[in-house]
Amino acid sequence: MTRLAVYPGSFDPLTRGHLDIIHRAARVFDHVIVTVSNNASKKHVFSVSERLEMLEEAVRGLPNVHVDTFTGLLVDYLKKKKARVLIRGLRVVSDMDYEFQLASFNRRLYKDVETVFLMPDDQYTYLASSMVREIARLGAGADAFVTPYVARKLKLKFGAK
Ligand code: ADP
Repeated sequence: MTRLAVYPGSFDPLTRGHLDIIHRAARVFDHVIVTVSNNASKKHVFSVSERLEMLEEAVRGLPNVHVDTFTGLLVDYLKKKKARVLIRGLRVVSDMDYEFQLASFNRRLYKDVETVFLMPDDQYTYLASSMVREIARLGAGADAFVTPYVARKLKLKFGAK
């Protein structure tokens, strides 16, 4: 049986923290699908296709990782992909409230789903896409927090300073 895991998220933009989780998941599971949520009710800085491009560029060297997008309920997407494992990253205790609520709802909607929480390397504990967006908006370089490709996209989006 192939062990397939799905890692969903906004990835707005992809950070080195997300990438750390992707690498860990790729080591534990046979196949990982990183899927970008296409949720119209959420405001995003980058379009779904821009976020997909960032991910595709970043996982090029990982043969068992593929990139996709989904709309609607995540559990419906999991059923369609015949996936039962959901990956989420846990950074600090404050993540737990939201992540446990999400995991509990997903389990109620699809009883066979198992959420697996992975912990990033310590250096990424306080890294969040929202912080990256904020510093880029204020004109600072985000190179320490994102891939060079994403850093370039941020500069194009917010203007290089
Ligand atoms: P969402 O809107 O679904 O929370 P995010 O892109 O913000 O999308 O996050 C996707 C997942 O990645 C979440 O489980 C989040 O906790 C995790 N994550 C985000 N940043 C990091 C990081 N620096 N280290 C580890 N996990 C992270």
